[in-house]
Amino acid sequence: MPSAYELTRDELNVLLAKEASYRVEQVWRGLWTDNQAIGEITTIPKALRQELAAQLPSGLEVVNDVESDRGATRKWVFRLADGSTIETVLMAYDDRVTVCVSSQAGCAMGCTFCATGQAGFTRHLTVGEVVEQVAFAARAAAPRRLSNVVFMGMGEPLANFNVTVEAVRRLHEYRGMSARHLTVSTVGVAPAIERLAAQGLPLTLAVSLHAANNETRNELVPLNKRYPLERLREACELWLASTSRRLSFEWALIDGVNDTTTAAHELADYARSLRAHVNLIPLNPTPGYLVMGSSAQRVRDFRSLLEDLGVNVTVRQTRGRSIDAACGQLASVTNGRRRPIALRTR
Ligand code: SAH
Ligand code: SF4
Repeated sequence: MPSAYELTRDELNVLLAKEASYRVEQVWRGLWTDNQAIGEITTIPKALRQELAAQLPSGLEVVNDVESDRGATRKWVFRLADGSTIETVLMAYDDRVTVCVSSQAGCAMGCTFCATGQAGFTRHLTVGEVVEQVAFAARAAAPRRLSNVVFMGMGEPLANFNVTVEAVRRLHEYRGMSARHLTVSTVGVAPAIERLAAQGLPLTLAVSLHAANNETRNELVPLNKRYPLERLREACELWLASTSRRLSFEWALIDGVNDTTTAAHELADYARSLRAHVNLIPLNPTPGYLVMGSSAQRVRDFRSLLEDLGVNVTVRQTRGRSIDAACGQLASVTNGRRRPIALRTR
């Protein structure tokens, strides 16, 4: 049985063909404007509500709900219909509320420093499973308005290409979100970046670079062996040419690996030539990667060095480390082979 978020507007029309058209509108508003679960849409009669709730059950069952940063960061572990699990993180800031959604249960890319990569791949998410994470988080964020969606949770969004494209399209068309508020982060699947550029979707693209020489990048991001930096640059150039939107590079700072003066120069050359913004992420600890993150001082020095080299750079605020909700720490993949999720209560 599909969840209501799997349905397009036309599909809902067909499903509710026997109802008055304003009923369809009420259900649609409930789902997409008011972020309600079907059972909560009280504008429709109880019998219809119950019938729809049975027909279109939620695709996400909460199995863990934890918070940190004094409630400003909240992480859910959801069990999907087939039993696989994913994680979603909600982050409240002074000026915005952001949800970080998963696009896959696990990830097949195997980046060495990422807990999701260490755990391996279970399956692609469906479009409903992606967009329902947004609706769920928006409901939890109330009375604040959920303003931003970042595809930076578990999985590689461009490896689940059609679903990512359709999810962005629905968030734009059905939820009214614009490019500034929708960010897709990719490890650098060059041909998929090019296909994405051709879609003309309203989104900001973030590329996880982490190293600007092939030797180091091959070690951190195995996909680099397939699409090395030169190939990635071509894709980024095409993205810039066809979307004229700023690109950003993510760079997790790892002690002695990619935080050296040489690394800063390599990054500056690569980023400047693509007029990209650089987002530095202090490395978050994961069980399978024992190298330390750069010290706070090194992060500051690396940042100023990049600024001196003419790069537009920011440092990402660390959120949710104490609940394993920070970048790269999402790993609750339970399909029997993976490490079990730690069940904690709030
Ligand atoms: N698969 C996509 C999106 C999910 S990962 C991608 O790789 O871009 C989201 C971001 O977290 C990426 O930039 C990723 O490189 C970063 N990340 C992964 N592990 C991390 C860690 N241990 N510390 C800090 N950032 C990490
Ligand atoms: Fe996958 Fe992104 Fe983690 Fe790499 S960093 S393993 S692409 S989720």
